[in-house]
Amino acid sequence: MKRTTGQNRAITSQWRPATHAVRAGTWRTEQGETSEALFLNSGYSYESAAQAAARFAGTEAGMTYSRTQNPSVQMLEERIAMMEGAEACRAQASGMAAMTAAMLCQLSQGDHMVAGRALFGPCRWVIDNLLPRFGITTTVVDARDNAAWEAAIRKNTKVFFFETPANPTMDIADIAFISALGKAHGITTVVDNAFCTSALQRPLDLGADVVAYAATKLMDGQGRVLAGAVCGSKEFIEDKLLPFQRNTGPTLAPFSAWVVLKGLETLDLRAFRQSENAIRVGRFLEGRVPRIIHPGLPSHPQHDLAMKQMAAGGAIFSFVLDGGREQAWALLDALELIDISNNIGDTRSLICHPSTTTHHSVGAEGREAMGVVEGMLRMNVGLEDTDDLIEDLDRALTRAGL
Ligand SMILES: *Cc1c(COP(=O)(O)O)cnc(C)c1O
Repeated sequence: MKRTTGQNRAITSQWRPATHAVRAGTWRTEQGETSEALFLNSGYSYESAAQAAARFAGTEAGMTYSRTQNPSVQMLEERIAMMEGAEACRAQASGMAAMTAAMLCQLSQGDHMVAGRALFGPCRWVIDNLLPRFGITTTVVDARDNAAWEAAIRKNTKVFFFETPANPTMDIADIAFISALGKAHGITTVVDNAFCTSALQRPLDLGADVVAYAATKLMDGQGRVLAGAVCGSKEFIEDKLLPFQRNTGPTLAPFSAWVVLKGLETLDLRAFRQSENAIRVGRFLEGRVPRIIHPGLPSHPQHDLAMKQMAAGGAIFSFVLDGGREQAWALLDALELIDISNNIGDTRSLICHPSTTTHHSVGAEGREAMGVVEGMLRMNVGLEDTDDLIEDLDRALTRAGL
């Protein structure tokens, strides 16, 4: 095996993100294959007993077991780290494995976290139900409100956690402000960057300490595998995340890593084209529905901040109908092209009703606090011709009485 990129960090670290997405972390076997090889193995053999001992002692570099190292997974980790501008990255079995690991690897009994209120549903479950069982408390704040982050800090606050844009309200959190506030108080800022990926938003450049991913979404981008990743400093990944991961086992399968590697090659194209498509479809909806929320549209209340920290608005928006659940469901059921699906980041256009699907488990009270109303729909705009998407929505809106 030969690393064909990453060998000369001084040169490769200067490449631009779109180049990293195609090239970073490519290792080649003696066959010289262009596309990365897939290593479907759990174990490794050694040339001698002494070599096995040296690998375990850490005095010789090399693989020992695929829970800790696998070439296909490591190629993905190198690529994501380079794209993100991070010193290190560890792939995870899913986005939720990444979020949970990013929290649990650094929080202990008695610690406190501050988190954005509008979060991916299962992240709220972890904060509300899992962490308290281990004596870890969380204050949930309106992530848009900079003063609320500051007011929530306690002596034992260790972590800030948020996503931006937030799911499904599309709230924007000020990454640079929150990260600087965290730094001033010795708090680690963790950003869930699944909606954007490094193609559209680079939280580490804005001062965040850790970026956690659902690679399931825009990174794979084609609705095929579950995957996650955590990026940060070498120290954070090696001293905090790795011991947690090695011993608890939320490791990514090599096949899934390989699929995500293929997805990343087209990430830049997809992220910008889907953002453009979302603007086109969003502009149509602006004339037909009472409210549409997309960071790339000037009608978003935080459009300026969004455009300061994002390269484009992204593939996802939410819109609200006055007729509540009944009208929202009528619209979904009248669609011919766009799928009813809770997934996002796919090349296919997908739409869902958050309050009865992704945010069902948050409960009515939680949804109300987050602003997830019954008439809200969330759409992922894919790579289809936008005229076909607009015609499909137009027909369905008419049938739903709009
Ligand atoms: C999907 C998603 C997750 C969880 O990812 P899985 O791969 O489904 O576990 C976490 N955060 C956000 C913002 C997501 O969209």
